[in-house]
Amino acid sequence: MSAPERVEIYDTTLRDGSQREGLSLTVEDKLRVARQLDSLGVHYIEGGWPGANPKDEEFFSRAPGELNLEFSQLVAFGSTRRAGGKADDDETLKNLVKANTHTVCIVAKSWDYHVTEALNTTLEEAVEMVRDSVAYLKGKGLDVFLDAEHFFDGYKRNADFAMQVLAAAQEEGADRLVLCDTNGGSLPHEVEAIVGDVRSAMPEAAFGCHFHNDANCAVANALAAVRLGVFQVQGCINGYGERTGNANLCSVIPNLALKMGIETIPADRLDRLTPVAHHIAEIVNLTMDPQQPFVGSSAFAHKAGLHTSAIARASDAYEHVAPDAVGNLTRFVVSELAGRSTVQLRAQELGIDLDGKTLAGVLETLKNLEYRGYHFEAADGSFELLLRRATGWEQDFFKLESFRVTMEKRADGEVTTEATIKLHAAGERIIATAEGNGPVHALDQALRRAIGLAHPALGAIHLTDYKVRVLDTQKGTGAVTRVLLDSTDGDRDWSTIGVSENIIEASWQALSDSIVYGLRQAESPPE
Ligand SMILES: [Zn+2]
Repeated sequence: MSAPERVEIYDTTLRDGSQREGLSLTVEDKLRVARQLDSLGVHYIEGGWPGANPKDEEFFSRAPGELNLEFSQLVAFGSTRRAGGKADDDETLKNLVKANTHTVCIVAKSWDYHVTEALNTTLEEAVEMVRDSVAYLKGKGLDVFLDAEHFFDGYKRNADFAMQVLAAAQEEGADRLVLCDTNGGSLPHEVEAIVGDVRSAMPEAAFGCHFHNDANCAVANALAAVRLGVFQVQGCINGYGERTGNANLCSVIPNLALKMGIETIPADRLDRLTPVAHHIAEIVNLTMDPQQPFVGSSAFAHKAGLHTSAIARASDAYEHVAPDAVGNLTRFVVSELAGRSTVQLRAQELGIDLDGKTLAGVLETLKNLEYRGYHFEAADGSFELLLRRATGWEQDFFKLESFRVTMEKRADGEVTTEATIKLHAAGERIIATAEGNGPVHALDQALRRAIGLAHPALGAIHLTDYKVRVLDTQKGTGAVTRVLLDSTDGDRDWSTIGVSENIIEASWQALSDSIVYGLRQAESPPE
């Protein structure tokens, strides 16, 4: 029993992943996520449960005409026939066939406790349900994957029944037997022992695995299963999923490919991993965890000022894989602890030439700004603009003349905010007014109205997070407010900062830096 040379990647972001709290996908979103997964090159995309809800039904009816998948295969998900029923008049099975995919995946109970408690039927009938359902779907010419639900917990209590479920599916010609850790509590040594037993008992069968992350071991468990010959790994991008999530494919894929030498997605697409992870986070409207391994913005960020020059010289001494292999970057985080070398390195990375005098000026400016409450560690966008301005660069997207924000609260509870902005752009004086659900939103809308036509790239740029912190609380309401804004254009994320005694002025600084940074990126791609 040794690891396979190639592992199939089976993504279930559109079905299991969307069970995550706070994640909800429209049909349009599902199509967009599927396109991203196809561009990454996963082998299978589980699209949903046809017939279970109108959304999934619409997805499967639109997918063939609108997706044009180049690489991935779409899979429809469902369950075995009902207890006591017949396969050929079972609604779920009929819907699976109607979904018109080449491959279907059906879930079956493999823990005896669930059969008697949840299904309310006998163990013999549960095995027949698997047998009939697989035979029916194979009879329709489909590739059939069997998700053995609660397999690990079931095997620990009643191995004989769990194995009967697998054997029935195997005998009827199921193409993959997928061992599921549905409650997500298994540990790698248990997975090793159980997968080892199962593989010895059924050496000819083709196995997959499906781990949840409740013990924070989903990725480790998947790697352990692969080492014992399991050759399909199911999981989700960014580890989305119910409760604590499914096995994170953004970690599974590079661990298999870069560390275990196993072929997963096409090798020349591995560097799409970070952009795809960020793009999908964007579509599902969840902020990326900066600490996410491989693809997070902090995954290769170094803060230690003294060591930064050493890291630049020999990055492999400080990084477990080359960041560009997964489409990520080394970053040097700027803080007042970091000295001259960090600033110089950051400038070099950005292709900005700082002579000695300019560098000294930047360090002086930084010291002053940090004293006033700026904090560039978390504001890479503003820091880059600061470096560029130090070399004499000036943004020419707009020149502010003035802005005004008014807010009205009426007795009936209605609150309205309106912003008017006056600025000069492309030789013209422009006045624009917009409403918003708060002062920052209204200002953002007014600025977009003023310069949006001249800069279509603005359409892709939007704010993802707004954080306010009051510094020096001893001063009470006179304290300084620090605003941090996170923004994205769908491919990359950046953060900007503003500091003022006035929260709206602080917000404006961060907002205008964000827009200037985003437009500069869009209109002058990196050197
Ligand atoms: Zn699951």
